[in-house]
Amino acid sequence: MNLASHLSAKCAAGILLFTAACSSNMPESGDPNPPIATKINVPANSTMAQIRNRGSITIGTKFDQPMFGLKNPATGKPEGFDVEIAKLVAAKLGIPANRIEWVETASANREQFVQQHRADAVIATYRITDNRKRLINFAGPYYIAGQSLMVKTGNSAGIHGPDDLAGKDVCTVEGSESSTTIRKVAPAADVVLFDSFSKCADALGNGQVQAVTTDDTILAGLRSLDPDGFELVGTPFTNEPYGIGIAKGREDFVRFVNGALQQSFDDGEWAAAWNRTAGKILGPAHAPPNLDSH
Ligand code: GLU
Repeated sequence: MNLASHLSAKCAAGILLFTAACSSNMPESGDPNPPIATKINVPANSTMAQIRNRGSITIGTKFDQPMFGLKNPATGKPEGFDVEIAKLVAAKLGIPANRIEWVETASANREQFVQQHRADAVIATYRITDNRKRLINFAGPYYIAGQSLMVKTGNSAGIHGPDDLAGKDVCTVEGSESSTTIRKVAPAADVVLFDSFSKCADALGNGQVQAVTTDDTILAGLRSLDPDGFELVGTPFTNEPYGIGIAKGREDFVRFVNGALQQSFDDGEWAAAWNRTAGKILGPAHAPPNLDSH
C-alpha cells in the first residue's frame, strides 16, 4: 500500500496516531478560522479589488504533504500550515475559507501556475530563490526550513549527511531546489527524480532508494505517516525561506500579503496557525522570520 492510500485507510479506520494528518485542525476551543476582515480599503483597480470583486481567491498548494498541504479525503480540501497561511491572507481580504479555490501544484509547475494566473498565490513549501524571482514575485518569508535527509529506520547504509551519499540512490523531486542542491553537495550520488515527495517516501519504503532528500519539514510530515519506518538523519544543510508566489505586475498584492503576514506575526495568528498544524509534530512556533530577510 502506498503512503497516500495508507493515509486514507488510517483516517477511515479512525486509528490515526497523529491527528494532524487527517483532523480538521480544530484547536481545543474556538473557531480555527481567522477573523474575516470587514473594513477593507483597497484601491480600485488594484489586484486586491479584482480578487474581492470576484469574491473568491485561487490558491496553489501541495495536496500530498502532511502538515503543510495535505488533502483530507473526507472533505476534499487540503490542510496544513501552508493552507492556514492562505486562510490568513484571504481573511484579510474579506474572503472566508469556503471561498478559497484550491488548486494542486507540484514542485515543477509552481512558476507556471503563478505566471499564467491559474493561482492568485502559490503557498507550497516554496523557497524564495533568485532564479524564481526572475519569473515571479514572492511575499514573505513566512517560515525558514532546511534541506535534510530521511532513511529507513536502522539506517543500514550509514547515511549521516551528503558526504555519505556517493553511489547511493537518493530520491527527490524534479523542479525542486532540493534536486539542484543535492547535485551540488553530493555530486557522486545517484539522484532519482519523481514528481512528488510522497512518491519518494514510497520508493524509500520499498527499498528502491536508500534516502530521500528535501526540506526537514516535508520529511517530518512524511515520516509522521510511518514513524516506525523512517528516520531523519544528520543536520539541515540549506536555508529554505518559504515565500508566497505572486505574479509579476502584481506588486500591490505582494505588499498587501506582506502586510497580512506581518500582522499575523504580531498578533499571534501566525504562531497559532503553526501550533495547530505543523507544530503538532515539529513543536511549538519559534519567532517568525524577518520579512525583509530575503
Ligand atoms: N523548498 C524547496 C523548493 O521550494 C523544496 C520543497 C518543494 O519543492 O516543495 O523547491
